[in-house]
Parts: sequence; C-alpha cells; structure tokens
Amino acid sequence: MLIDIDRLPNDGLKISRDFDFLNSELIDENVVFLQPVHAHLSVQRIGDDVRVQGRISTRLSFVCSRCLTPFEYPVDCKFDLVFLPEELHELRDELDEEDLDQLFYKDRQIDLREVILEQLNLTFPAKPLCSEGCEGICAVCGRIRRHGECGCQVKEAEGRLDQLKIFLKDKR
Ligand SMILES: [Zn+2]
Ligand SMILES: [Zn+2]
Repeated sequence: MLIDIDRLPNDGLKISRDFDFLNSELIDENVVFLQPVHAHLSVQRIGDDVRVQGRISTRLSFVCSRCLTPFEYPVDCKFDLVFLPEELHELRDELDEEDLDQLFYKDRQIDLREVILEQLNLTFPAKPLCSEGCEGICAVCGRIRRHGECGCQVKEAEGRLDQLKIFLKDKR
C-alpha cells in the first residue's frame, strides 16, 4: 500500500485494515501466519519528514527452539517512526553515527505494507520457546519432555559412557 507523500492531507491519514502477507516474507522460515495482520496506522507529514505511528496485531505459529513443537505466538505491538527524504540519505556520510539507522523514504512514497512487515519481523524472538520452562526433548530417546516421563536416566547414560572410556583405556 503506497502512500504518496505529496498527496497526504494536512491533518494526516488514518488507516485501519488487514494486511495479507506470505509466510515466505517472514525472516524465520518456520513461522506461519494464523491470521492476517490487523493494523491501525496514522501517517502525518511534518515538513519533509513523515511520521508513521501504528499498532499491529496478528497470531503466528512458531516452532519451539527446544522441543520443536509448534505453538501460537500472538503479536500486538506499537511503533512510532519518522522517515526522512532520500536526499538526506545521500548525505549519510556526513550524518552522525547515531543517525545511521535513520529511516528514509524513496521517490516521495512510503510503502506501508513494507513498514508493517519490517516491524512485525522485529518482534520475533531469537530463540522462540513454547514456554519459559520448556525442558526440550530427552537427549536419550528424543521424546518431548512436556509429554511425560520417558524413564530414560540421562545420568545412567553418562555412567555407561564412563565405563566405555575405562574399557577403551584398558584396551590400549
Ligand atoms: Zn518447547
Ligand atoms: Zn527418554
């Protein structure tokens, strides 16, 4: 959804609607959309700067990084961004270090769909977990610990490994 900077009304633009994305547009290939992204956006021009404030919500399915089980991940986040004209981007070298992650718009346009997608990707956890205390899978049999005790004794397995080491030592 392209916003033409020069056609923005003086008192700004307010948008409330759903945005559809492909799962492949997300940075994590294991993540799947369970519903479209609902967005409330306000776009306002301040001189040549454009301020985009928004709130986005959706539900996604993640895969737990410990037990590999899919789980539902709700997103409800707010953002408040300021975009500067691209001409300033070319002066980048002269900008201060702290301005380097400044946002810019190109061709007098802002693609709100892209803005939403980027903000959504930013909410993703580096290591998604189905629950804080997820105990992952049993190192011996691979059973998901949350699904109950498998009876494997990890310590016993380590003990067996020690015996194996002793056995190998004796063989030398
Ligand atoms: Zn888990
Ligand atoms: Zn086990």
